[in-house]
Amino acid sequence: GSKFHHQMGWWNLKFHFWFVKNEEIIFCNYLTNMLKCACYKNMHTLFFERKYKKYMETIRFDELELNPKILRGIKDMGFEEATPIQAQGIPAVLSGRDVIGQAQTGTGKTAAFGIPVLESVDASSHKTQVIILSPTRELAIQVADEIRKLAKYMHGVKVLPVYGGQDISRQIKALKGGVQIIIGTPGRLMDHLRRKTIRPDHVKTIVLDEADEMLNMGFREDIETVLEYLPQEHQTVLFSATMPKPILEITRKYQHDAINIKIVKKELTVANIDQYYYDVKRKDKIDVLTRLLDYYNPKLSLVFCNTKKMVDELAYELCGRGYSAEGLHGDMKQVQRDRVMKNFRNGKTDILIATDVAARGIDVDDVEAVFNYDLPQDDEYYVHRIGRTGRAGRCGKAFSFVKGKEVYKLKDIQRYCKTKIYAQPIPSSDDVAKIRAEKIMDQISTIIDEENLTSVIDIIENQINESDYTAMDIAAAFLYQAMGASEISTAESKDDYDFHNTGAEDGMVRLFINVGKKDRIKPGDILGAIAGESGMPGRLVGAIDMYDKYTFVEVPAEYGKEVLNAMKNAKIKGRSVNMEPANSR
Ligand code: ADP
Ligand code: MG
Repeated sequence: GSKFHHQMGWWNLKFHFWFVKNEEIIFCNYLTNMLKCACYKNMHTLFFERKYKKYMETIRFDELELNPKILRGIKDMGFEEATPIQAQGIPAVLSGRDVIGQAQTGTGKTAAFGIPVLESVDASSHKTQVIILSPTRELAIQVADEIRKLAKYMHGVKVLPVYGGQDISRQIKALKGGVQIIIGTPGRLMDHLRRKTIRPDHVKTIVLDEADEMLNMGFREDIETVLEYLPQEHQTVLFSATMPKPILEITRKYQHDAINIKIVKKELTVANIDQYYYDVKRKDKIDVLTRLLDYYNPKLSLVFCNTKKMVDELAYELCGRGYSAEGLHGDMKQVQRDRVMKNFRNGKTDILIATDVAARGIDVDDVEAVFNYDLPQDDEYYVHRIGRTGRAGRCGKAFSFVKGKEVYKLKDIQRYCKTKIYAQPIPSSDDVAKIRAEKIMDQISTIIDEENLTSVIDIIENQINESDYTAMDIAAAFLYQAMGASEISTAESKDDYDFHNTGAEDGMVRLFINVGKKDRIKPGDILGAIAGESGMPGRLVGAIDMYDKYTFVEVPAEYGKEVLNAMKNAKIKGRSVNMEPANSR
């Protein structure tokens, strides 16, 4: 029946082409690859399902003509359909040609190469046949686990991770038993190749997994060393979430006529994400960040920094300002990272600050805002970063902080991502207070509509009857309380001050200043500052009572507001001071 299958495959491919023509260019790419594969390796033609629910997202594994034992393993793992990178990657790797596969994190790249290498491994031979390079110990173990699960029913196939930090003699012992598939970090693999504890003579396939991350971690030379050890005839497969230049250089140097697969996931398009940028100086970034957090009040936010140090610093700063924030980066232990992720996922932490590498694999749906505290080094990372918001059809927001020339980088990003990032003014503290009030009022409307308020209305009525307060006074006081007094005082301080009954002389108001005798300040300094800043004649200043750490000054009531406004940014003897109405006695 193979001939029949083959023909059906062609027929379906044509049909498919017609069907998806207007949907996705990527798919045409897929077709060309498929056609190439089909020509190259006569069999392994993909056999599509008759009912075309969606295009290639719905390829089932049993349509890939795989070894039934592998299919069983896949089934046990609970995979129903191949992901796009698997649907394209599996036949490509099976063809024996070199392959470059690019797809976002979490799209199943491991199985995309794991399944075909298992398919081609010879279980009766104990020679090393497949080497997989992996950037970290965790990832190496993860990949080994996944391949072992896939190979669950393939007796005689041995899979072993080798990585730095683990006792090498233990690894050597394990290797002696004969391991067909080795997953290792570049440094440790190099070590074993030098010691001849891994013999590369029968290696058919080498896989560079998470290639971008390996290069980020400075493994380029080690990777090249490992590649130099391999026999002339072998297949080189490379998978990566992004394809920066250095990777393309490696592929050019070590691959021949590679099949190029690139999956651009729909989610990665940035259509439903509002994107803004702010021109911010480095030292002002944290203030702008907190302003935006206050203004938009996102449920979960992801903040990206370019260095681990910045991640730590920012997490510390934000916590100091009362935000619930945690950092995530590669220097942290796995248990720590797991804890941080768990807290973020269940909302215990609202703000996660991360580097690009650490953010790999973060898959949280409710992220409402992504902040590029630092602009990403690679344009492509921008898409990956902001793709963390606006999931599942929700609308997300992305904010980028740029300074000076970085605006040009932003232009590149816009061109690359075919998107628009709008300049936006930083919200003022008034804006923040206003939006808070609006949000509270929204909640209030819901309460009025949905709750039974009779009993509380009684309480308010009594209060109004027994005091001089109006309903308006009481409502205002509640709003004030709900907004948190500090927010309002900054927003309101411009205009209205409340001069309490302080026992000041008739017609005068009493003001408080936070400097006193201990600051080596004399009454004359204060008088001079007030007269100088406000333009009110010095002779109008009334009593000045100095204490060790503070001072009370009386000024004519009609000048009270003016003096306070004028003194806001004033200094006395080089010291910034704070002046406000004195509390009532
Ligand atoms: P990537 O390397 O692209 O970041 P992984 O290979 O680590 O992604 O896969 C991410 C997760 O998806 C893993 O838990 C994996 O078991 C799971 N997965 C892979 N392929 C499928 C599939 N076809 N169906 C369901 N889950 C899958
Ligand atoms: Mg991976």
